[in-house]
Amino acid sequence: MRALAWSIIVVIVAAIAYWVGWREEPMPPPASAPEPAQQAPAVPEPTLGLIDDARIINADSEPGNWLAHGRTYAERRFSPLTSVHRGNVGELGLQWYRDMGTSRALEATPIVVDGIMFLTSAWSRVHAIDALSGQEYWSYDPEVPPEWGRRACCDVVNRGVAVYKGRVYVGTLDGRLVALDAATGQKVWEVDTITDRDRYYTITGAPRAAAGKVFIGNGGAEYGVRGYVTAYDAETGEQAWRFFTVPGNPSLPFEHPEMELAADTWKGGEWWEIGGGGTVWNSIVYDPDFDQVYLGVGNGSPWTRAIRSPGGGDNLFLSSIVALDVETGSMNWHYQTTPGDNWDYTAVQDMALADMMVDGALTKVLLQAPKNGFFYVIDRADGRLLRAHPFAAVTWATHVDLETGRPVENPDMDYTESEKWVLPGPLGAHNWQAMSVDVEAGLVYLPAQDNPLIYGMAEEWQETGLYKRNPGSMNLGLEFGRIAQLLVNNLETQPTPKGYLKAFDPLTGESPWTVEIPHYWNGGVLGTAGGLVFHGDALGHFNAYDKATGELLWRFNTYTSMLAPPITFEIDGTQYVSILTGTGGGDLFSGEALPPLEKTASFTYGNSGRLLTFALGGTASLPPPTAVDRTIPEQELASLDDAELAQGERLYNTYCATCHGLLVRSGGSIADLRLMTPEVHAAFRQVVLDGIYAGQGMASFGDVVTEEESARIHAYVRARAHEDREVALGNKDIPRMTWLQ
Ligand code: CA
Repeated sequence: MRALAWSIIVVIVAAIAYWVGWREEPMPPPASAPEPAQQAPAVPEPTLGLIDDARIINADSEPGNWLAHGRTYAERRFSPLTSVHRGNVGELGLQWYRDMGTSRALEATPIVVDGIMFLTSAWSRVHAIDALSGQEYWSYDPEVPPEWGRRACCDVVNRGVAVYKGRVYVGTLDGRLVALDAATGQKVWEVDTITDRDRYYTITGAPRAAAGKVFIGNGGAEYGVRGYVTAYDAETGEQAWRFFTVPGNPSLPFEHPEMELAADTWKGGEWWEIGGGGTVWNSIVYDPDFDQVYLGVGNGSPWTRAIRSPGGGDNLFLSSIVALDVETGSMNWHYQTTPGDNWDYTAVQDMALADMMVDGALTKVLLQAPKNGFFYVIDRADGRLLRAHPFAAVTWATHVDLETGRPVENPDMDYTESEKWVLPGPLGAHNWQAMSVDVEAGLVYLPAQDNPLIYGMAEEWQETGLYKRNPGSMNLGLEFGRIAQLLVNNLETQPTPKGYLKAFDPLTGESPWTVEIPHYWNGGVLGTAGGLVFHGDALGHFNAYDKATGELLWRFNTYTSMLAPPITFEIDGTQYVSILTGTGGGDLFSGEALPPLEKTASFTYGNSGRLLTFALGGTASLPPPTAVDRTIPEQELASLDDAELAQGERLYNTYCATCHGLLVRSGGSIADLRLMTPEVHAAFRQVVLDGIYAGQGMASFGDVVTEEESARIHAYVRARAHEDREVALGNKDIPRMTWLQ
């Protein structure tokens, strides 16, 4: 059975070859949207100076627009539009599409203001597009140094812009916040948001703008940064305040009083050296009801608390929701979802605001489904926990105690002494892919997943009790060099990975309907008053479901996997639905996914970054899909022994797997090294050590990898490729997979 399963997963799809080396897969030039004959017209002026707090607060009075990241400040991503509804959604067709010129993951939420769409693509590039035709008004390239790609844990993605008072704001992968003139795309100001450029800080999240300020956080916890959020004056770019989310070096003064409170909860480690983590890389929500800003705070650095804070403690403000006064940045309250985080359980997932009847009282609540698998309903007035029902399979904790507000950990899942499969894994039961909140129905439409990881402490720490930060790679505190071995050795006991779209009642924990998806890494969600839930999945299907029943009502095959959330808008009485295609991001296991998962559309057909817009009666079509030739070429095997290949495997997992995929199986957005051409093999050393492909985002690793180590990584890549080739050719039943036995 196991042999059959392995042979199924390495069956190779054959077709037209177009893939070379490390480069981004080449894309055809922008197609269906005709470029303007002369110079691009400026965005029509009169509409654009007017987007201010009042207009976003009253966004429901103009449902044809999508004015802010989650549509309104409440970020519910539920549209009042009804022209497209249950009865006619079957007539929905492609109106236009635009190639975005990238095969890297696209994660942005477009913002639509009076017929103009503002969005970002890979490498933090910004586009202003006519929402009726797909024609571009202007684009802005912040020229992120391509070598910064190596500093990003989860691809060179960006989740969108803020549009506010005539400006468009974007955070760049290399840590800048840029204000553009919304009419022309010209830069107005730019600030460097990074406190320490020796550490691998990145920005992938969308800035939020409110109360005259722009708010931006950062990412990089896995590489050892210390998280914080900064508020800048929207007009001038001058810094208004900065809130650190974890304490710094205890020999230095506290930056603000909350750091004194936090420092009491970190015990015994050298977190300031390792970094601490707590990055706010996704959700920042402004609440006009309380003049508060909520920060969704990320995981610890390193992941393992035995290393990070060996004396115990909650490690504030990791995995917390923190409410700050919008004017001063001082803390009003905090709620920690995962005290002493030990699993990469971020609380950075989108937060939505609503007024709900809770226990007989109309209550202003905050809703969040963080990675840890519990759905939190929190009183926005004081941070009090009201509900915390599980929304997916959870094994790390038995429940959340509503009296104490704390989760009750499952001692059987403690992985300090021996490795354990834990649910959720580090991709979470829910990640950044947006949910939609339907207040009237009292339901949330949620993209969830069961995606376990086998957790085990770093061998270095097990053997010596010591752990040293490696500045050039991820610092998880887990045994990541051996991760493939742990997976392969423990496949028999692996909980089944799968994806879901589910309707979830956050007050009762009940789920009126659930759609199972045969892959876990799917897209964000949009709900509409037309009775529909829109969702793009890993198999390339853009779907519309009946929000009352979960029945599939409409499907369009994009032949590309999706992560981004759809949006909807209306122009001259016609309702449109838009979505970006292209997967990747944080998932390094999706390549030839392990059974019973299906292969992703992007693995089969390539990762075509496109912006698609649909309307009733739309008749446009995408170019016919062509399957990627994944025939693995014959390999020249190096004459290394198993111990040397095992070292290559460890090094590959440490430095390469994050992008190029576990088991040397790429997910489709970044080069599959098993398919390297003889020319790339010949240049392998220069690529890894000299950075000759730095321009394509493959920077040199010469600072952390030696000549001999590079050769061993190369030999391991060849050996893995050879095995998968042998299985594909029918010469072998089951690949060995790992040399670390
Ligand atoms: Ca993380």
